[in-house]
Amino acid sequence: MGKFSHPKILEILERYKDIASLESLKSLAEWDLETYMPENAAEERGKILGRIDVLTQKLFLDPQFKKLVQEEYPDLNIYEKAVLRILRREIKILEKLPPEFIEEFKKTTTEASVVWRKAKQENNFDSFAPYLQKIIDLVRKEADYLGFEDHPYSALIDLYEEGWTVSDFENFFESIKNELKELLNKIKSSSKYTQKIPLEEEKYEKEKMQQLNEYVLKLLNFDEKRLRIDISAHPFETAISLNDVRITTWYHPQDFRRSLSAVIHEFGHALYELNSDPEFSLTPLQGGVSYGVHESQSRFWENIIGRNPAFLNKIYPRAKELLPFLEKYSFDDFVFYFNFIRPDFIRVEADELTYHFHIILRFEIEKKFLEGNLNPHQARDLWQAKMKEYLEIEPPNDTLGILQDIHWSLGYLGYFPTYSLGTFLSAIWKEAIEKDLGKIEDVLKEADGILKIQNWLKEKIHQHGKTYQPKELIKLVSGKEFNPNVFIDYLKTKYERIYF
Ligand code: MG
Repeated sequence: MGKFSHPKILEILERYKDIASLESLKSLAEWDLETYMPENAAEERGKILGRIDVLTQKLFLDPQFKKLVQEEYPDLNIYEKAVLRILRREIKILEKLPPEFIEEFKKTTTEASVVWRKAKQENNFDSFAPYLQKIIDLVRKEADYLGFEDHPYSALIDLYEEGWTVSDFENFFESIKNELKELLNKIKSSSKYTQKIPLEEEKYEKEKMQQLNEYVLKLLNFDEKRLRIDISAHPFETAISLNDVRITTWYHPQDFRRSLSAVIHEFGHALYELNSDPEFSLTPLQGGVSYGVHESQSRFWENIIGRNPAFLNKIYPRAKELLPFLEKYSFDDFVFYFNFIRPDFIRVEADELTYHFHIILRFEIEKKFLEGNLNPHQARDLWQAKMKEYLEIEPPNDTLGILQDIHWSLGYLGYFPTYSLGTFLSAIWKEAIEKDLGKIEDVLKEADGILKIQNWLKEKIHQHGKTYQPKELIKLVSGKEFNPNVFIDYLKTKYERIYF
């Protein structure tokens, strides 16, 4: 017998296939927008996507569908209960947003994302600023529609991380700020601390780098029949459906780690999607349960695996063939290149420690946006000031500063804090894996070590899709509530060994 058998749930799932199909094609159109779409199509694409969002809303709020979802049924199993939990939450959100608002939001953000891309390329914040102001106005409206108790920002945060509020994240960030700052200062006092790493300056051939990325993906058991990789301005992952997941990376003239880390990061997201129980295909249970848990998967692969010397040892011989400059460096140099701490401008390439200051900065700016206390140009000044305060560096231009991320152009305010949450979660998964399989470093030395770790993640986390709420899942897997100290301890142990 399958996971779904209650006749009413089966009826709901049958109807839901219309929604799932629209959402799948919407994801495909969004992927296309970031990869191959001709530039002048942006305005039309925005209108089209806006209409599709409205159609989706109509299907969710269809009175018959709503009634089916909101009724109580006895004797449901956990999967059937999860279907109702997810759909009820979705309906509750969509009921509050007028269709005109949804359309306007999509239209504006689609256009803004195209303007942003150009503004970033040309280091022209002024061209993006009016769009950012429109988006701030829209998300403030959105928060009003959705409703909130303490702060408008909480209304948005809840969209990305169910049950989390602005004060939850304030407490989380306050509890880690000093620990991180102390560790950073300590590392800066080490004789091994350096601002410059020669490997960052080494130029590479794009074709060779593509080959290395393909090699690494193969090592990670990349399923090319279900997953493809392309190039975009900002790396991302998206699931079109259970057997069609897309990732992207980027290429630069030098500093090959940027491209490679993006591949491993997005692969981590993809694996979560690909490992959903096949029975969940086109149901509300398919895919990752929250943004934080999703990011815990990408950060796990990027950091815990991708920066591990035992993993780097597996790719080193092939890297030397494709990147001839590596001949000049030792394996220790190679490992250090992936594992050094240094405050820098770009969030996605930040080291494991300073990364969180990038998030805290964005969190603090977003909070002010939602309060209506900050316009785009003030935000740029605040960005510069906070970079100085937290990391003691100042971006020389906006491309390396406030224009670096795509999120605000898409109206994704409330998203960034889940990145830190996910990273902290990844250390909790590491701890749980090590309890079952032994030290990650040792597991990676085994021939099938990567597969063992993947099977563990599949069994404990991935296959469940959205069955369990994030907090339930954390408890189920680790036996404990979310605890930021696990990650702080991981950082201290790791980097004190590297630097002292
Ligand atoms: Mg990510």
